Amino acid sequence: MQKKLSDYRRVIGDKEIYEIYKAAKPLLGKHVVHINSTYQGGGVAEMLNTLIPLMNSIGIKTGWRILHGTPEFFNVTKSFHNALQGADINLTNNIKKIYEETVEAFSVFTHLDHDFVIVHDPQPLPLISFYKKSQPWIWRCHIDITNPNKTLWEYLKGFILAYDTVIISSEKYKKDDLPNPQVIFYPSIDPLSEKNRDMTPEEVDMVIKKYGIKTDKPIITQISRFDPWKDPVGVIEVFKKVKQSVDARLVLLGNMASDDPEGWKIYREVEKAAKDLIKTGDVLLLTVDSSTLVNALQRKADVVIQKSTREGFGLTVTEAMWKKKAVVASRVGGITLQIEDGVNGFLHDPYDYDGFANTIVKLLEDKALAEEIGQRAHETVKEKFLITRLLKDYLNLLSSLM
Ligand code: UDP
Repeated sequence: MQKKLSDYRRVIGDKEIYEIYKAAKPLLGKHVVHINSTYQGGGVAEMLNTLIPLMNSIGIKTGWRILHGTPEFFNVTKSFHNALQGADINLTNNIKKIYEETVEAFSVFTHLDHDFVIVHDPQPLPLISFYKKSQPWIWRCHIDITNPNKTLWEYLKGFILAYDTVIISSEKYKKDDLPNPQVIFYPSIDPLSEKNRDMTPEEVDMVIKKYGIKTDKPIITQISRFDPWKDPVGVIEVFKKVKQSVDARLVLLGNMASDDPEGWKIYREVEKAAKDLIKTGDVLLLTVDSSTLVNALQRKADVVIQKSTREGFGLTVTEAMWKKKAVVASRVGGITLQIEDGVNGFLHDPYDYDGFANTIVKLLEDKALAEEIGQRAHETVKEKFLITRLLKDYLNLLSSLM
């Protein structure tokens, strides 16, 4: 059944629901389109899946277009993604050509006569150059752009300047050299989605069993695409240290996103780093794409880890916090907007393997502490990171651009 705003009454209360209807008023009947480059895998698709039905349910006609690209195009855009997060790039004319020509081809069969166009991330960014602009365009950047590669940034800025507004996830990503208005939207999760809905312990156990995860030892998990920035190999290193003190099992779950060509390469690196532990069954690598499994695994885990070296926001952190889990994560990017160290989770520098391992061991040995932290984590998400808040942010922004 399609989601409706009223479904969220029991989560956020009537006053908030009314506030959202009120914020939608100036936009009733307007036509909005979101454009990104994948319908599944990664945080952007996750949010659009709920946000779009909700916008429609309150009377704003909202569509979703997905940029079609070749593997060659997605290799280029993944290298852009990496370079925006600080990696090197050799920005040749051929690379620019592949990027711009793919987007131009998409523009030919994508007619945009909407009142607002919202473009997500760098993949479809140049679209704006292929239309006669007749409405506000918004660029929503989900990436950690604290320290982007300068050459690439200068090139992409050429497209960004045509946008009316840029949305970023953190004050830290604001760019002094960008004259466009920059607004901050925290990403958010849908508490009623398959991934986050309540589950009984029996259902959790059933799902965990179905995927062959044994529960005879405490479970530590990181749920993330197999991506260098999520540092799954580092997670294996941390786990090896944990095992010196406590016997536990590590489950790495990572689906393969269609706009991310690096997945299997990184998967094989992890497989190599964890070879012996995989043999004994103490490390389990899963690549299934299942929201029910994400939900059950986050609920079943004794500790959730997120050892990213860069992280635009980190929805997996929010999801685990919602499930009252103590998350041990890197002090990077958007994770620091969510976790206050020692209050509602724990933060370490991304390469502090000992710090990660010690905190994980402490949480495995002190259940009361894990529970107390988890309870506070849940309250943080309820207050700041639910999809209904994101919906309100969009309504207010669109109204301000009318
Ligand atoms: N995810 C998933 N299955 C997986 C791995 C990740 O459904 O096997 C989801 C995860 O639950 C979250 C999103 O993909 O909703 C990842 O968002 P995040 O912001 O953590 O990272 P991104 O992939 O966007 O860099």
